[in-house]
Amino acid sequence: MTPILENIPLAPHSTFRLGGLARYFAEAGSPAAIPELVAFAQKKNLPIHVLGEGSNTIFSDAAINKFFLKLGFDAIREIRKDQTEVVIEIEAGVSWDKAVAWSVERGYQGIETLSGIPGTVGAAPIQNIGAYGQEFANVAVEIRAYDIESSSPIVLRPKDCEFGYRISVFKKSGRGRYIITGVTIRLSLLPPAIPAYPGIKEKLASEGISSPSLQDIRRIILATRAEKLPDPRKYPNVGSFFENPLISQAQAEKLKRNYPNLPIFPASGGKAKVSAGWLIDACGLKEKDFDHLHVDKRNALVLVNDGSATFQTVIETAQEIIKSVRTKFGIELEIEPDLVS
Ligand SMILES: Cc1cc2nc3c(=O)[nH]c(=O)nc-3n(C[C@H](O)[C@H](O)[C@H](O)COP(=O)(O)OP(=O)(O)OC[C@H]3O[C@@H](n4cnc5c(N)ncnc54)[C@H](O)[C@@H]3O)c2cc1C
Repeated sequence: MTPILENIPLAPHSTFRLGGLARYFAEAGSPAAIPELVAFAQKKNLPIHVLGEGSNTIFSDAAINKFFLKLGFDAIREIRKDQTEVVIEIEAGVSWDKAVAWSVERGYQGIETLSGIPGTVGAAPIQNIGAYGQEFANVAVEIRAYDIESSSPIVLRPKDCEFGYRISVFKKSGRGRYIITGVTIRLSLLPPAIPAYPGIKEKLASEGISSPSLQDIRRIILATRAEKLPDPRKYPNVGSFFENPLISQAQAEKLKRNYPNLPIFPASGGKAKVSAGWLIDACGLKEKDFDHLHVDKRNALVLVNDGSATFQTVIETAQEIIKSVRTKFGIELEIEPDLVS
């Protein structure tokens, strides 16, 4: 029987270091422990919140009347390998970057540019994590989950997951329904491509590397991230606070005429992706201090908690930034992290 704790502080469970008390908290040691914990929450009529590493979650500082479930299982298993590819099962509690390091060490290609993304493997499908040209959806084979609605384990295929840019079914119609217990991914044994990202290409070239190994790519991505993003252990943050907005091609062309430096990238569905950080910077908000919150000087997409922010100041600051961008550019920013109250 898994111990169920009451009134547990949530701040240590978020890299934003903000949070009140969890009404109930339990850590499942295996997928088999989940049904009894779900049954307990259902008997109490409480919603279940799955805790990862909290690197994309901001908790309210009030008491939160939910059942908080942490997943404490973390095995990585190679299940099939041939001349060109390998299939791997990874349990939800594994740190994402540990899974990347494990794959890179073995010469398995497909997630190396996702090096250094904080969080757990179980959370990777939620917003279809992505960076430097790769995203989780590209390697996904299966997502194993416990379906709270039917009280049974379920296997989802990528086509069921509606993966898109920082989105999936788990943030839409399936929100709150699934406890992801593990993923199966397919990686390639072929040599890696050079990431086509400015900054990464130049760094490789400056080291005279024309055919980078997976280790070269991982090292350069980790160094680039360390330069560009404040370390949440020193500066509490949840990475990008806003998603890069997707706009129509017509709107993108119009904006480009008025703001020739605005970074715009092609996106799926004929849309254009605009840099939210650039928009915030262009509103003069980079390095701005709000109420116990600071817009990071290296990356205007990142809000840093000085240690005394409240949930209210977070909401007010987000609204102020959204309003500034709307007024100047006519673009609506969307908050990326899960705001839990
Ligand atoms: C410095 C920094 C840099 C970042 N860089 C990137 C980046 O480059 N690209 C990117 O995509 N993201 C990035 N992020 C965001 C974050 O790392 C990812 O979203 C990550 O996947 C979150 O993992 P987590 O375990 O911390 O999830 P949490 O924040 O704990 O959870 C996020 C959401 O997923 C749900 N959830 C978590 N685990 C499960 C599960 N097993 N089953 C069901 N629901 C679950 C939670 O309930 C919550 O709603 C960054 C964050 C930080 C702090």
